[in-house]
Amino acid sequence: MARYSNKINKIRTFALSLIFIGFIIMYIGIFFRTHPIVMTIFMILGLLAIIASTVVYFWIGMLSTKAVQVVCPNCGKPTKILGRVDMCMHCREPLTLDASLEGKEFDESYNRKK
Ligand SMILES: [Zn+2]
Repeated sequence: MARYSNKINKIRTFALSLIFIGFIIMYIGIFFRTHPIVMTIFMILGLLAIIASTVVYFWIGMLSTKAVQVVCPNCGKPTKILGRVDMCMHCREPLTLDASLEGKEFDESYNRKK
């Protein structure tokens, strides 16, 4: 995997993996059938991971409304930019909304500078 990717996609991948982790934790809980308390703890932890993922999905929805939709100059597809620099969802072309950063090498640290 590339070091940089589109932020919205990255968060979406994280939310998806949380669902899988949740189900894996609940599945492990089944092995502790004979210990109801341990099983319950695993079930609750698994449920919490799934709840967390829905929260993250909700957060993506909020971020998406704030992200700027642009047409990628490289592949011509619509994509969303979050922050000062971000990458195209389709072709990983670095994109910026800040004219002063245009032509400079892609660096995620630009997002942290004021
Ligand atoms: Zn593109």
